[in-house]
Amino acid sequence: MTVHQLKKKLTSLLGQDNVLASREDLLCYAYDATKRVHVPEIVVFPGSVQEVSGIFRIASQARTPVVPRGAGSGMTGGALALQGGIVLAMNRFDQILEIDEDNLVAVVQPAVITGRLQRVVQEKGLFYPPDPASLDFSTLGGNIAENSGGLRAVKYGVTKDYVLGLEVVLPSGEVIQTGSKCVKDVVGYNLTQLLVGSEGTLGVVTRAILKLLPLPEAKQTLSAVFPDIHGAGRTVSEIIRRKVIPATIEFLDKNALWCVEHYLQLGLPESAGAFLLIEVDGDPAILEKEIRQVQSICEANQALKIEVAQDEKDQERLWKARRSVSASMAHYGAFKKINEDVVVPRASIPEFIKNVQEISRRFDVPVINFGHAGDGNIHVNVLVMKPEDEPRCHEAVEEIFARTVELGGRISGEHGIGVSKRDYIAKNLEPGVLELMKAIKKSFDPHNILNPNKMFP
Ligand SMILES: Cc1cc2nc3c(=O)[nH]c(=O)nc-3n(C[C@H](O)[C@H](O)[C@H](O)COP(=O)(O)OP(=O)(O)OC[C@H]3O[C@@H](n4cnc5c(N)ncnc54)[C@H](O)[C@@H]3O)c2cc1C
Repeated sequence: MTVHQLKKKLTSLLGQDNVLASREDLLCYAYDATKRVHVPEIVVFPGSVQEVSGIFRIASQARTPVVPRGAGSGMTGGALALQGGIVLAMNRFDQILEIDEDNLVAVVQPAVITGRLQRVVQEKGLFYPPDPASLDFSTLGGNIAENSGGLRAVKYGVTKDYVLGLEVVLPSGEVIQTGSKCVKDVVGYNLTQLLVGSEGTLGVVTRAILKLLPLPEAKQTLSAVFPDIHGAGRTVSEIIRRKVIPATIEFLDKNALWCVEHYLQLGLPESAGAFLLIEVDGDPAILEKEIRQVQSICEANQALKIEVAQDEKDQERLWKARRSVSASMAHYGAFKKINEDVVVPRASIPEFIKNVQEISRRFDVPVINFGHAGDGNIHVNVLVMKPEDEPRCHEAVEEIFARTVELGGRISGEHGIGVSKRDYIAKNLEPGVLELMKAIKKSFDPHNILNPNKMFP
């Protein structure tokens, strides 16, 4: 089928306004946060599950690739139309269909922005915990496809922990329902959890049932600066060992602190080598005790400076260093940055950072580390200072992956595999497991039309 014939069929299904094919329109759907560009042949905006199904029937017949797309904030190229074809823009699926306060669930369409759901449920005293840093623009559909994590994962888990059920359109056009509003459900294989994190390669989510929690009554925030990563690492282990589970434990390494200090002039101690931002939430009576406990652990581990926020404004001030780290990295003046999101068992963070620093020196490439110390998920930013350094930087990344695996870690904690990491997936998965995954893909998508060439080498 020619592109012209395909466009004609899609237009008769969706109407003229919901099909784009001009070069300038297509370019708007050709990117994601990887900054790679792959221009699709057609972009469609279905408005109902029947239309999504119809698009797949047409695409199956034409053997044309279909790439689902939320907000395009993915960090691994999942929403890119690598082989052209159709981009399935889910923008019109933007309704919060139900907030069921009796069962503590929300029923949503996939293009709802994550932060919007959080605000809406908060007004009812409820809480949707997954909080990727992109929550002001990423969609719940993208979060489900990537099994996105966030700053609160250490206490509240990640997206998969909140998905109870899904409505999904399969590449054949068939519509299936998985899971239910029930908290317990052991009927058959858990297809809901198979689809969460499948990166838009098995089916398209058109509706989701999400679990909600009661909103924590209060929170307390503390920041601490340490001379080195070891003091910070020991602090994290000790907090967990004492059975305090903060909602958030974020860290910045020495280079990240250098960037933030040059950007914001916070007056951090000259000898600062690591920074922790810790937030506890829950019952105010217990919080007071917990934050004092955290403070005394920081002191015992030779923190150079500790601040406990006195009010909401103060909390925001303490968060500023963490929130500004990405923007502040521009101060390094790099030509490009390779952003990885490896995860190691959290007690191995100091060892991991020591390894990264050694690799950084050996390959002579600057590396900035920050991330979620509470769950071991570290954003490793390898800075490419000039174009000719790029091959060396990729070699450094390979070594970082190798050290990650040696420490029992995984090459991605939250951004997924997509295109960026598909050639590395075998570092974590043995051949038999990889084959099983490919067989699953084949049984969902025998003609390989849904988001092809992603995830697997
Ligand atoms: C500044 C910034 C901060 C970020 N912070 C975090 C973070 O803290 N934690 C984190 O985990 N990620 C983070 N991300 C990555 C990104 O925001 C997440 O992966 C997010 O879930 C992607 O959502 P999206 O709507 O933009 O999806 P897209 O980028 O549009 O798509 C991502 C994947 O989901 C698939 N997809 C989209 N909608 C559907 C659907 N309805 N059905 C099936 N598949 C679908 C696509 O095909 C693609 O494979 C960050 C990104 C940026 C730019």
